[in-house]
Amino acid sequence: MAALKGGYRFRLFEGTPEGTVAAHRVGGRVVVPLAQGEGYAALPVVSPGDAVAAGQVIGTPPAQVGSPVHAPIDGVVRELAVKARAKQPWAIVIERDAGKAAPPAPDTRCEWTAAAPEALAEALTHAGVAALVPGGMIAPGLARVLVAVCVHTAPLLPRAGAVYAGRENDLVTGGRILAKALGAQELCFAVGRRDRAFAAALAGGGAPRVAAIDEVYPGEHPKLLARAVAGGAADVVCVSGRAALAAYDAAVKGAALINVRLCLGGAGLARPAIVDARVGTPLGELCADRLAPGREVRYVAGNFLTGVAVPPEHPVTRDLECVSVLPEDRERRFLEFMRPGARKDSYGRTFLAAFLKRPLAGDTNLHGELRPCINCGWCEDVCPVGLMPDLLMKLLRIDQGEEAEALALMDCIECGLCSYVCPSKLPLHEELARGKRAVREELAQ
Ligand code: SF4
Ligand code: SF4
Repeated sequence: MAALKGGYRFRLFEGTPEGTVAAHRVGGRVVVPLAQGEGYAALPVVSPGDAVAAGQVIGTPPAQVGSPVHAPIDGVVRELAVKARAKQPWAIVIERDAGKAAPPAPDTRCEWTAAAPEALAEALTHAGVAALVPGGMIAPGLARVLVAVCVHTAPLLPRAGAVYAGRENDLVTGGRILAKALGAQELCFAVGRRDRAFAAALAGGGAPRVAAIDEVYPGEHPKLLARAVAGGAADVVCVSGRAALAAYDAAVKGAALINVRLCLGGAGLARPAIVDARVGTPLGELCADRLAPGREVRYVAGNFLTGVAVPPEHPVTRDLECVSVLPEDRERRFLEFMRPGARKDSYGRTFLAAFLKRPLAGDTNLHGELRPCINCGWCEDVCPVGLMPDLLMKLLRIDQGEEAEALALMDCIECGLCSYVCPSKLPLHEELARGKRAVREELAQ
């Protein structure tokens, strides 16, 4: 198996969840975005005042690429929320209401071993599973090899075995179901090399192949995994383990994708956790009784290298795997590099933290000041696809987009590592992503 070039092995950060999975109490109000995961955004098929049942379809995609959106709770549609200057609603707001009877939610259960792949694909799509499959489509012939990604390498994530604990057999069955619906001839579970008990449980549950992956970020990226597991073949489709579980829930239990298992981590939380939550639950509500007291926090949907800062009202979506809750720190740090840094991560191992075993601290501070590139080469060392981020950024800054393209700008997988390690705090990842967008827009004209 090809080893990952570059990358970074993250150490343990304060606030990394562990232990058993907690169930979040279902709230009385949910905000259900119409765009969730892969595929086109859905269009609402309900109106304010309609009674809905948990699992009922409330939005359908305008084309084959996409999947329906379901009501996460029993209740009444209060509003089709529209953002300023937008014409179409972006979300459906539902509140619990015991007074109204709703139509029963459809059941997607099917005898998956006997079902034709086409029928299985239709049932999974109807349950919302296509939102977790690249391209937003499930149909036979779309994959030769299916890889279920069950490895975590990003900071603030527990090992995947903790997230799927107790559901290993469901995971294997779900992978088989999804593989059948996609017409895949091979099914592989990518598992962290150190997650041995989990790998053994999957193998014991009948997984046809378990591939051990080094826990080096961003080893679980589909492009890198396809290379590691299947030599980079084009017809390899990588899905998260959650997609396999959703396939199991849809085909075996008849449940639509309205429950999400996600990791809440970060030093802004006194009680980080792995939780099961309903789609549409606001992050602020989800984390309210877990916050560290007296700390202003920033919510980041995703990991803190590639995630997006969101307000506490931001709802859980079916494709959300983790939320990083970071202490807000806006202090300007002059000559930060001269401080001891007992809990500060650094690629250069120049801080005390490199020699101590304590968990590292992560917050929103830049921990230094923007300076010119010092040509240290760290960004090139860590880039997992062999780019020269420093040179690409310089080319983009002087409007040499074509030159940057010739140096494989479009191969950037936007993992954020170059920005993370840069001692000059240069926003390489952000500028390269912007450069890629500009190239795409130009090609589209
Ligand atoms: S963001 Fe792009 S350029 Fe930077 S390290 Fe990741 S792949 Fe390389
Ligand atoms: S890591 Fe930052 S300072 Fe070092 S070469 Fe790259 S851009 Fe320059």
